[in-house]
Order: sequence, then structure tokens, then C-alpha cells
Amino acid sequence: MSKYKILMLSMLIVGIFLFDIVKADNGSLYGKCIYLDPGHGGLDPGATYAGVKEEDINLEIAFKLKGELESKGAVVYLTREGDYDLAPKGSKQRKRDDLYRRSVLINNSGCDMYLSLHLNATTSTSWTGAQVFYDDINDMNIKLAEILQKQLRTDLKTTRKYKEVTNGYLYKRVKVPGVLVEMGFLSNPGERSRLKTDNYQRLIAKSIAKGIEVYFKKY
Ligand SMILES: [Zn+2]
Repeated sequence: MSKYKILMLSMLIVGIFLFDIVKADNGSLYGKCIYLDPGHGGLDPGATYAGVKEEDINLEIAFKLKGELESKGAVVYLTREGDYDLAPKGSKQRKRDDLYRRSVLINNSGCDMYLSLHLNATTSTSWTGAQVFYDDINDMNIKLAEILQKQLRTDLKTTRKYKEVTNGYLYKRVKVPGVLVEMGFLSNPGERSRLKTDNYQRLIAKSIAKGIEVYFKKY
């Protein structure tokens, strides 16, 4: 073999080796597609307490979570990126049409996972903590719920347990594996003020992203 051929061959081998390193460096979620669904928007602000609207915080955390997931190499889509709903103009049943369109978007995306992001509220002001809900339409949903809840319990010091949801219009229709995350209670004054801060929102986003990493590593 000529010196030239040996040189070319060694360059090729080094090239393949480097390509593998670059590929491995693309992040733990490289090749994964995740659809984020920030709840409410438009005419429906969701839970509202002391001027704090659920729709706004859902979206703010969704953007932070998108950043976290993209930094790990995932492709991320959002069902909404502003204060609007997805129902068509003149719709007579806005809420239902909005949720239907969200389900169609997610089902047609070819994504590996979806997450609906919401905030909780109840008549008792003492309830706090993030909680994951799943529908059993898909066998993977309960597995994802378990992993995410465990991660949220660790990172946010909550004692809540994941739970099955049986009456969710949206969750019955989405075939892609996914869950609903109620990220905290707006009805609790302390949690409400935390949920408004950048730091706490980032903590939630990082925790969910970590949970997603654990899930994809396992399944
Ligand atoms: Zn909600």
C-alpha cells in the first residue's frame, strides 16, 4: 500500500472515531421528540388566584422545560406558544374543540412522549405539591407517571403520589405515551408565590427533564 493510501485510510478511521464521539455528545435525549402541552390559554385562564393565572405559569414553565430538553438533544414542540386556545373561529364548544385539536397535533407528530402541564387548585388552602396523573389508554403511561413522581418528590420535597385520571377528554384521545403534571397548587399562598419565581419554575423544569431522562434510559 502506498504511503498516500495509508494516510487516507488512517484519516478515514480517525474520522469515523470522531463522528462517534460527536454523536455520543449530542445529549442523552438525542433522537427523542417530546410534545409539551401548556394547559389553558385564550378565553380559559385556568385556575386564577390573587391575580395569578394558571395559563401564564404553565406556559412559562413549558418554555423553561423546552430549553432543558433541547439542551439534552431532544426535539420539542408546544401545543401553544402564547395566550390563545386552539379552537377554530366561531366554535360553539371552545374547550372541547381546543382539547381535540391538541390531541390531533400530538397524535400526528410522531413524537415519543407528551406532557400536559397544569397547576392545581382546591378549596383547602393547605394542599401543596406537584402530582402526576395518567390515563391507562397506554401501558407506558403509568411507568412514566411513577418515574416522574419519584423525581418530583426528590427535587421538590413533595409527598404526593401519582394517580390515575379517568375523566380526561384529552388524555383518552392521545395515543402517544404521556402524562398530566399538576406542578403545584395555586390555592396555597406559599406555593403560589414560589410558582411565580424564575428559580422555582426552573427547578420544576429541571426535575421533569431529569425524570424524562430516567424514563428513556429505562424504556
Ligand atoms: Zn389546568
